[in-house]
Amino acid sequence: MSEETTSLTFAELGLPDTLLQTLTSVGYESPSPIQALTIPHLLAGRDVLGRGRTGSGKTIAFGAPLVENVLRSQAGQRREFARKPRALILAPTRELALQIDRTVQPIARSVGLFTTQIYGGVPQGRQVGALRKGVDIVIGTPGRIEDLINQGKLDLSDVRVAVLDEADHMCELGFLEPVQRIL
Ligand code: AMP
Repeated sequence: MSEETTSLTFAELGLPDTLLQTLTSVGYESPSPIQALTIPHLLAGRDVLGRGRTGSGKTIAFGAPLVENVLRSQAGQRREFARKPRALILAPTRELALQIDRTVQPIARSVGLFTTQIYGGVPQGRQVGALRKGVDIVIGTPGRIEDLINQGKLDLSDVRVAVLDEADHMCELGFLEPVQRIL
């Protein structure tokens, strides 16, 4: 659980009812400070730079508004087979990508959106298979993501929302240039 919460509600931050129900059902009653400070700006479509320790609730801070922004961008459209992703979350390591997916996937699935993980060190077959069927939110590491783009198997031209999680750590691991090229 997040170490601290506020006396606000997620509804007061502007999240829609569908997502509120999901957040409550997974046990998040009220927003943590980083969530209260960032979610309204993210819902308004602004760029946000956040700093918070592990345990601050930063994944929900970017994850919940990201799901809402993807939903809004698809409003009125059918979710087609082989649709291109609308959101990208970059992380420095496979472990962090998995952790982000564990938090974001239940929120995304509750409103019918699909996530997939794209990271190196494993065969790419399953990842490419998921992309072929169509996913809404890609979560992954810069190396494999750029690799699939260069192979023509990942098309980010419909992406509306991009998140760099642990941007400082990505720079330390030498991902600055791949991240810049991907963006
Ligand atoms: P994070 O900082 O994103 O790694 O989140 C730390 C932990 O806090 C995770 O286990 C989340 O599931 C949990 N968490 C995130 N937001 C809340 C919240 N508003 N209320 C309670 N727990 C939360």
